Amino acid sequence: MRHALCPAWSPERFLHVDTSAIMTDELIVKTAVALRKDFGFRGFFGWTHYNESLLFKERVEWLMDAIDKECPSARYLLITNGTKLMDVGLPFLSRFERISISNYGVVRESDVQAIRDVTNVVFTQESMDDRIKRYKMRDFRNDRACMRTLVTLPVDYFGNVRLCCIDWKGESTLGNLRTTPLSIVEERLHLARKATVGGITQDAPIACQRCPNKYHLNPMSVVCPRVAENTQRFFRSAM
Ligand code: SF4
Repeated sequence: MRHALCPAWSPERFLHVDTSAIMTDELIVKTAVALRKDFGFRGFFGWTHYNESLLFKERVEWLMDAIDKECPSARYLLITNGTKLMDVGLPFLSRFERISISNYGVVRESDVQAIRDVTNVVFTQESMDDRIKRYKMRDFRNDRACMRTLVTLPVDYFGNVRLCCIDWKGESTLGNLRTTPLSIVEERLHLARKATVGGITQDAPIACQRCPNKYHLNPMSVVCPRVAENTQRFFRSAM
């Protein structure tokens, strides 16, 4: 499946990031273990490859085995577009605490009943998005809050820690795990959160200053934006 607007095909996909070497499997494991043991991370380690990580099932399995040896309670999330989902078997799928299917119509709810018996399955996106156009909106400005940095922290093939998946060119990357200590990445993430979750401030990363894809966790943003903004200001002051 190849979507004309998918950023993965853009020649500018890695415009602002370090692509001089890949992130090795050993560094992936070392980073995951450090996040659990030294930084108190208790969320999911998610596997994604522009949504079909099951193309690399053996590699993912090896990585989880290696992480589990040092952190048996590590938690995993599988992100898939469903094209390989039915080929990998229930024992493998049961290792994920959650499976997130970006539903482009490849699999339907009725296809995954057996998988629901072994783990939690959620269907997410229903259509392709238009994030490829976001950098063209140079004049777009608003200071609405964004909570995306509280939810995900993507790391790419080369070890670059991306601010978020919307900044797909890496304009506001937080560092590269091959060269930047995790403590520095954590510090930069903290500053980025502080400048975005309660409303975009002047200190926010440049990618956030003109971002049309801001993300709200708080359902109050829909029914009562003023209350939601106040809640988010509270979050920011508490950080
Ligand atoms: S404001 Fe936009 S670029 Fe910044 S974290 Fe949110 S979604 Fe990403």
